[in-house]
Amino acid sequence: MKYHIITFGCQMNKSDSERIATLLEKKGCQSALKEGEADLIVVNMCSVRQSAVDRIFGLGRKLSKLKTKNKKLKTVLTGCILKKDKKKFENKFDLILNAKDLENWVKKSKKKKTGCSYFKIKAKSQSDSIAFIPISNGCNNFCSYCVVPFTRGPLVCRNHKEIIKEIKQTLKEKNIKEIWLLGQNVNDYNCPKNPKINFSKLIKEIDKIPNDFKLFFLSPHPKNFSNELIKTLKNSPKFGKQINLPLQSGDNEILKKMNRNYTAEDYKKLVEKILENIPEVRLSTDIIVGFPVEKKKHFKNTKKVFKEIKFSQAYIAKYSPRQGTAAFEMKDDVSLTEKKQREKELNA
Ligand code: SF4
Repeated sequence: MKYHIITFGCQMNKSDSERIATLLEKKGCQSALKEGEADLIVVNMCSVRQSAVDRIFGLGRKLSKLKTKNKKLKTVLTGCILKKDKKKFENKFDLILNAKDLENWVKKSKKKKTGCSYFKIKAKSQSDSIAFIPISNGCNNFCSYCVVPFTRGPLVCRNHKEIIKEIKQTLKEKNIKEIWLLGQNVNDYNCPKNPKINFSKLIKEIDKIPNDFKLFFLSPHPKNFSNELIKTLKNSPKFGKQINLPLQSGDNEILKKMNRNYTAEDYKKLVEKILENIPEVRLSTDIIVGFPVEKKKHFKNTKKVFKEIKFSQAYIAKYSPRQGTAAFEMKDDVSLTEKKQREKELNA
């Protein structure tokens, strides 16, 4: 059987797709380059923004057409799927598996004999020089706009020995130059087998691996960015000197409504500390414009932080309400025109 995986969204989804590919190949499936050549199409979706969900509806129609040409074709939808969307997708896909169900799916497909964990599946890497290594899954933070705690569930961390083993194995097989540690809140890491191993200690363990590679991570939360971590990064020979530190808003009232647990001042102090210790670091950020009740005066504060920090890059998203989140209960009162304008201003 030939399979084809279509991936949307973040690096975590890409990493999940690499593990799904391994699982399918273990079952004897072969990869098909094009959708039209496949008998099994897996769509790994993202629900972070409505536009990403809308693309799945469009894709569902395309897959239905492919099914009329290939009667054997089976389709699976997985990734971050909201409960309310699940119903709508039911008649478009043969099987729907939420990201947090993948672990159970693996266990079932192994007939419960091995007790295999999803994380233990070796990823079929898409790149010869970059490896994505998930160190945790899920999140306990409940930022008011975010669906991740609902679609991926609470934070679950991997055993640090398993992480180190996967990195060493990957380095042995390929000429990997970049290792990316992945987690929805990557610096909230704590080894379940040894609570003394936090994110900082994990980096120190990775530093001991002799191969020549650079280390990156996605995505850290400012509130978990400890002094210990800054010191570790400063002294790390592997650290790739690049940090994406999501700010989301530069206004304290909005940050509170977002449940981010830091103020703009905390964020700026943290950046100052990072730059003092690692002056050559490239800082990028994530921002949401047009969050409920974000008035011009609030947005002005975000612009102010942008002018002060001068990020090397920013990923700017226009707010879209996600059902089930706390922000969904707030009035989405910033017009699309205004959101676009704010996005343009920040980009400028
Ligand atoms: S930290 Fe906030 S934005 Fe990031 S995954 Fe967790 S809830 Fe979502």
